[in-house]
Amino acid sequence: MPEVFRNYINGEWVDGPTFENRNPANTDEVVGLFVKGSAADVHRAADAAQAAFPGWSNMPGPARGALLFKVADILEKKFDQLGEEMCREEGKTVPEAKGEVRRAINIFRYFGSEGSRLPGHLVPSERDRVHMFAIRKPIGVIGLINPWNFPIAIPAWKLAPALICGNTVIMKPASVSPLSSWRIVEACHEAGIPKGVVNYLAGSGSEIGNALVSAKALKAVSFTGSCEIGEWLHAEASKRRLRIQLEMGGKNPTIVLADCDFKAAVENVCNAAFFSTGQKCTATSRAIVEESIYDKFVDALKERTAKLKVGNGMESGIDIGPAVDQGQLDTDLKYIEIGKQEGARLVLGGNRLTGGAYDKGYFVEPTIFADVTENMRLAQEEVFGPVLAVMKAKDFPDAMRIANNIPFGLSASVQTTNLSRVFEFVYGCEAGLLTVNLPSAGVEYQLPFGGTKESSFGPKEQGPAAMDFYSDYKTVYLKY
Ligand code: NAP
Repeated sequence: MPEVFRNYINGEWVDGPTFENRNPANTDEVVGLFVKGSAADVHRAADAAQAAFPGWSNMPGPARGALLFKVADILEKKFDQLGEEMCREEGKTVPEAKGEVRRAINIFRYFGSEGSRLPGHLVPSERDRVHMFAIRKPIGVIGLINPWNFPIAIPAWKLAPALICGNTVIMKPASVSPLSSWRIVEACHEAGIPKGVVNYLAGSGSEIGNALVSAKALKAVSFTGSCEIGEWLHAEASKRRLRIQLEMGGKNPTIVLADCDFKAAVENVCNAAFFSTGQKCTATSRAIVEESIYDKFVDALKERTAKLKVGNGMESGIDIGPAVDQGQLDTDLKYIEIGKQEGARLVLGGNRLTGGAYDKGYFVEPTIFADVTENMRLAQEEVFGPVLAVMKAKDFPDAMRIANNIPFGLSASVQTTNLSRVFEFVYGCEAGLLTVNLPSAGVEYQLPFGGTKESSFGPKEQGPAAMDFYSDYKTVYLKY
């Protein structure tokens, strides 16, 4: 009998009807049964979070920080287990999953340390004997809605800054990967975070989402996921003037210029397009290559990508796991068909993998389309799978124009050895996260994270910027 993972409200583990979480690499395996939260649970959790708010927000910041350090220590003790569980629920390889677990641990330590700083402002007044300063204050009860693709890092980078600023939360995991964030909540419970401060509700996105935006106690929502749900949430949240932060889709470019370190550029594009099955929000989905090296680049990328081993990420030597579920697999295959119909040149892949163990999972070949042009859907719409569009640019200005000619603006990369081009890219590229001579994916937690245009809305996540969403200022003018 698979283990049952209950919801967590007001410090208690709560029972109810369950839904299955299956391994996308082997659908015979049920990873766990999760309790399906209801609208009534959301309202109970919101009340509990509101009741816990005065105690938690008045606890000294360093004491809250000490509890976050404990959470990090508990997660670290389970490091191997967490990596393997993530591989089984989401499909990414164990080394990638462990890298993500490490990041979550580091995030709890980073924000734990912020408890001793919680930086405000202290500035000199124009007036005599006036002392003026601004201190941070928490907001209240916050809803944290998570996607499936980084099932421990994203919940960690929402929860840790929310808690250190003194807020209380209701956390909703994605239904296809609820276990990793359940482990965070378990660690919060074991660490002794007071009851009601952290509440966790798995279950239907629309039911919990609807109840969350109508829960009286709620003051803010942080959401990462699709543009469609983000836009709906924004409209609902605006009716109540909830503070909101949205991180959504992307169609990230890597510009490859003729003067690049060729081998490194091939490796970086291959890594950014296909690792984690292309299911990173910062993945490269458009390689925009300067004309003079275009054919050579397509050939080299094909040769490198053909060596990738697709399979169950629990096995050593596997580079790429499955699509996360049937829906994402269908989307990948749909865009492969669209690419063919639009007249793009299929260079590699293009099929679902079948036979033997592949029949038990949602495996798709890493797929490269060349000669993709700007108006094709393959160049404009997010796939969120291992499907790369390669596009030809006349020169650097043309490449920049193509890179910016999309509604999204999450991440972007340039591969070049020309310093002026680097700076022209940095200042001219319409994206929130830029890399130079690195894959477009693979960010750290110490700097602001987030996009522009239709990819994002509201203050940035991570790094010192995270505090801006999870706190407000109280400004004081004091005559002595
Ligand atoms: P999604 O379908 O929008 O789901 C995201 C979360 O929203 C899930 O927890 C989902 O719950 C929940 N949800 C669904 N309907 C809701 C509603 N009506 N109200 C409130 N919440 C609701 O997105 P996804 O498929 O999990 O994630 C893939 C997308 O996320 C891609 O577009 C990707 O680009 C984006 N993403 C962006 C970033 C970034 O930082 N910009 C990072 C990672 C992913 P259920 O699972 O129960 O449906």
